[in-house]
Amino acid sequence: MIESNEIFDNAMAGIWIKTDSNPVLRHNKIHDGRDGGICIFSSGKGLLENNEIFRNAQAGVLISTQSHPILRRNRIFDGLAAGVEITNNACATLEENKIFNNKFGGLCLATGVEPIMKDNIIFGNHNMVDRAVSSGQCLYKISSYTSFPMHKFFRCRTCNTSERNAICVNCINTCHAGHDVEFIRHDRFFCDCGAGTLSKHCQLQGEPTQDTDTLYDSAPPMESHTLRVN
Ligand SMILES: [Zn+2]
Ligand SMILES: [Zn+2]
Ligand SMILES: [Zn+2]
Repeated sequence: MIESNEIFDNAMAGIWIKTDSNPVLRHNKIHDGRDGGICIFSSGKGLLENNEIFRNAQAGVLISTQSHPILRRNRIFDGLAAGVEITNNACATLEENKIFNNKFGGLCLATGVEPIMKDNIIFGNHNMVDRAVSSGQCLYKISSYTSFPMHKFFRCRTCNTSERNAICVNCINTCHAGHDVEFIRHDRFFCDCGAGTLSKHCQLQGEPTQDTDTLYDSAPPMESHTLRVN
């Protein structure tokens, strides 16, 4: 049981829940993290009730890899990425949560994810990802390699991209025009074309926006964090 804590300004996720753990998190404030608020991985469960999760750099709550937590009456807001993201065959029960003013959308679901929803209020979230994409930019322009916005994930057979490389829809249409490409799924990723990790030069990317020496791949965040619940 993790109750009434203030968890903030962490370099990595505020709280990690993983490998079948099933904690109760109640009345915590989890905010201003430089990664996500709460990350739930590897069949993690958990009951998250009445928490305030806000101003985190990544998703307020990221639910991945066969996890199935219950989120009830949380307030998830002012995130610099998505409010709640669910991916990799995970599920969730969401009841009476308020999810608002998150930059990459309130609730972002990967292909095939169907959460159980009741009486949530999801409002006033921003679609920065869709806006960047519809303006013709490479997704990498808004994500760099530090975040994983959820969008259409493609692969290019001509450029022989691996399982772990993703390409955004605008790069597919310009940089990889005429190539043998494949839509994989809607999911969270950054664009490897824009990141410059493919052999083909990206036509949508001008000067690199940041140093790309330490590239992260489109995989779950690193496990190094302040509070782990096993
Ligand atoms: Zn791209
Ligand atoms: Zn290609
Ligand atoms: Zn490109």
